[in-house]
Amino acid sequence: MAPVIGVTATLKEDLELVATRPLGSFVRADLDYVVGVKQAGGVPVVLPPISPGAAEEMIRRLDGLLLSGGSDLDPRYYGEEPIPELNEVRPERDTFEMAALECALELGMPVFGICRGLQVLNVALGGTLYQDLPSQKTGYELLAHRQQTPKWQWTHEVEVDIGSEVAKIMGATGLRVNSYHHQAIKELAEPLMEVAHAPDGVIEAVESRDLSEHWLVGIQWHGEAMRDTQGSEHRNLFEAHVAAAERHACRRAAA
Ligand code: MN
Repeated sequence: MAPVIGVTATLKEDLELVATRPLGSFVRADLDYVVGVKQAGGVPVVLPPISPGAAEEMIRRLDGLLLSGGSDLDPRYYGEEPIPELNEVRPERDTFEMAALECALELGMPVFGICRGLQVLNVALGGTLYQDLPSQKTGYELLAHRQQTPKWQWTHEVEVDIGSEVAKIMGATGLRVNSYHHQAIKELAEPLMEVAHAPDGVIEAVESRDLSEHWLVGIQWHGEAMRDTQGSEHRNLFEAHVAAAERHACRRAAA
């Protein structure tokens, strides 16, 4: 049976409709993620950020978790006060995703983190972030990691470590990726390995130390939006995640 993959969503305020009906929030998930999961052979479901308790109930019914991109994670999760350059944070989403991820990690569930998702994964495992790359990562000629052009266009190159699982999965070591982040990994969490970086040294991909034991992969670019423009490389990541979720489901059924 095709594995069920949960895709995290965010809450948006209903600002446009304020004149015609009461202000409210709605759940929003970019279609590229769920279509990416579907094309890879998974059954995608969108996870609304309701509460930590709901997160655990949802995770227990899934085979894999995809942490999507979005707003800045509250820096208090890595023990820092917010700096002025920090952007919007969504407390409901942060608490939901942290609870969901904690449960997924406990169950050994395959997790694929994209952009903010990679950052959330790193922090949940004990790492830290640059709250704002341009003002905090000094001493480097920093690239423009916040492009203004459409998501299917690439903006900088990425070098993937030749011996890494991500390189094997993608079938490439030189990538051209889009870039929509002003935050990045600062201190890497111990269970993760840095497996790709931009020419300025910014970490662009991570994987768990033993992917066959516990499949954890994070990418800093929006691979879901490059599935159709850059060959099969980015689709391969979705397929590897779905395949890992299928193996996880089989192991769980056998236990
Ligand atoms: Mn980048």
